[in-house]
Amino acid sequence: MRHRKTVFVDSDILVIGGGMGGCGATYESRYWGRDLKIVCVEKANIERSGAVAQGLYAINCYMGMQWDENQPEDHVRYARNDLMGLVREDLGYDIARHVDSTVHKFEEWGLPIMRDPKTGRYQREGKWQIMIHGESYKPIVAEAARKAATEVYNRIMVTHLLMDQTRPNRVAGAVGFNVRTGDFYVFRAKAVIVAAGGASHIFKPRAVGEGMGRTWYAPWSSASAYALPILAGAKMTQMENRIVLTRFKDGYGPVGAYFLHLKTYTQNAYGQDYEAFWRDSIEQMVGDYVNHHPVPTCLRNHALLEEVKAGRGPIRMVTKEAFKDPHKETIGWENFLGMTIGQAVVWASQNIDPKEINPELTTSEPYVMGSHATCSGAWASGPEDYAPAEYQWGYNRMMTVEGLFGAGDTIGGTAHKFSSGSFTEGRIAGKAAVKYVDDLGNQPPQVSEAEYEDLKKTVYQPMENYAVGRNEIVAGTVSPSYLLPIHGLQRLEKIMDEYVGGIGAHYTTNEPLLTRGLELLTMLKEDLAHIGAEDLHQLQRAWELQHRVLASECVTQHTLFRQETRWPGYYYRADHPKLDDQDWHCFTLSRYDQDSGTWAMEKAPVYHIID
Ligand SMILES: Cc1cc2nc3c(=O)[nH]c(=O)nc-3n(C[C@H](O)[C@H](O)[C@H](O)COP(=O)(O)OP(=O)(O)OC[C@H]3O[C@@H](n4cnc5c(N)ncnc54)[C@H](O)[C@@H]3O)c2cc1C
Repeated sequence: MRHRKTVFVDSDILVIGGGMGGCGATYESRYWGRDLKIVCVEKANIERSGAVAQGLYAINCYMGMQWDENQPEDHVRYARNDLMGLVREDLGYDIARHVDSTVHKFEEWGLPIMRDPKTGRYQREGKWQIMIHGESYKPIVAEAARKAATEVYNRIMVTHLLMDQTRPNRVAGAVGFNVRTGDFYVFRAKAVIVAAGGASHIFKPRAVGEGMGRTWYAPWSSASAYALPILAGAKMTQMENRIVLTRFKDGYGPVGAYFLHLKTYTQNAYGQDYEAFWRDSIEQMVGDYVNHHPVPTCLRNHALLEEVKAGRGPIRMVTKEAFKDPHKETIGWENFLGMTIGQAVVWASQNIDPKEINPELTTSEPYVMGSHATCSGAWASGPEDYAPAEYQWGYNRMMTVEGLFGAGDTIGGTAHKFSSGSFTEGRIAGKAAVKYVDDLGNQPPQVSEAEYEDLKKTVYQPMENYAVGRNEIVAGTVSPSYLLPIHGLQRLEKIMDEYVGGIGAHYTTNEPLLTRGLELLTMLKEDLAHIGAEDLHQLQRAWELQHRVLASECVTQHTLFRQETRWPGYYYRADHPKLDDQDWHCFTLSRYDQDSGTWAMEKAPVYHIID
């Protein structure tokens, strides 16, 4: 194997992922830890990385407490309702009570927030959303993190966490490689905060072939946020709670501003308001949840899916009326130009002028995430002043591994935090991590040389496989002795699609399918030892695939464990087609044992703290 340089970086706090959660964690760690060494490591460049890379048009989580618009308790009720009763109310409340101060900081740092000319308040798009000129949202936030960090390491993909050799179940840092130079990095740290985003491309996307990079969630969100803690033995929660989005067809353009601000609405191919058709049958599946206001997102998806299955598709967004108003027309286009330019391009290429044609909607393939409208992620300790005793085993946002914290998509149980809530959760985790480091005193974790040397060999193995195996190829790219990352990815997506409830299976699965899916995933995992990487770019793809496969296995285990259909519209357990509050009004937890390759599943109670 070609010699690879090893670079050692020591820090007090290591932040993995410089997106919204990571920037928040870096910023706040500096505030509380003036003398600490705070390092942020990012596989892209924090200037334009993560789900907010392209910009946003709205901040989706703002209480407006200064104007008495909403209180944190209201937000907890809202998220609980949308998630069919199951959220970590302590964590959600903790974010909601601090999120306004985060948004005020963004404005102070230069983010243009629109104001209502009559009231002077922030311009609301909906009850929780405020409108921004957000094309430069990410660079503005990144600047604050850059100034706060001792050092930011861009272009380093973290592949594994390191564990303390003096004490079991304590984190000691992480390893990764520079995707440009190929150097190996060993980050030794007293506390680690994982903020590596969610997971796209674990289910087969609607756009395949040349369009496969066009997904709703960022295609570079490659499940590291889950795989890193899972491998370290951290407990995960609600991983079955994958998200499916109703979006404009082919460009995945968001619909929030259209529904909330432009007041557009949907109808079936025959101009009918179809949602009411399905109310009674939904009530039979989920009981009273369908009568709640607002109707939970998954149930609205369900109505759309059923209507299409009944042969009355396509479903369209009625834009023709709203777009007659020049102000609304401008907003409609700007909404895409500020965050999903691709949708505007798709419409232009398909001759769709929303003033003349009502554009089609469709549902996306499933994604896994903890910050948008679903709540998959790591099981974290709650705030000292608010969490029930059972949810507290240490520091706020610390996982079940000592010294390992998380924020944003990484942390489970708290949906609807979005960009501002993820940054806020990063701040909360950063503050707690500083306290943890302070309390460690003179007993810092120790990294074993054998551990990182072994990992170094493992990390570059795909390049070794390629170098040896390519000699057997006479033509094309198919080798008898290795598989390429793209081949592994397509195999993963096919398994998840067909067995775990993707678009090809109408989001439907059952125990026999899930059991077979797990068998196929096990075989895929075996083959990943033979993955081949031609260059450093492909090496990154190889490790992204490893992370995606492990997270997918976790999703499948959780989906098998929860014997009910909790969120119709997100997925269906055909063998347990109804919501079952008696047995499943609970969180699902998993823990992976790396040595045996087995998963332990359990239930955890849901505490309703807010009336
Ligand atoms: C299409 C879309 C529209 C959205 N619309 C809105 C909206 O209108 N309003 C709103 O408030 N929110 C919106 N959101 C949600 C918001 O973007 C997320 O809630 C937020 O970005 C999550 O923060 P995070 O830190 O968990 O993940 P991210 O911000 O995605 O950051 C994760 C970071 O980790 C890095 N990373 C990943 N793996 C590794 C690794 N192995 N090693 C090193 N670095 C790694 C990534 O490159 C990335 O920089 C939207 C998201 C999407 C995708």
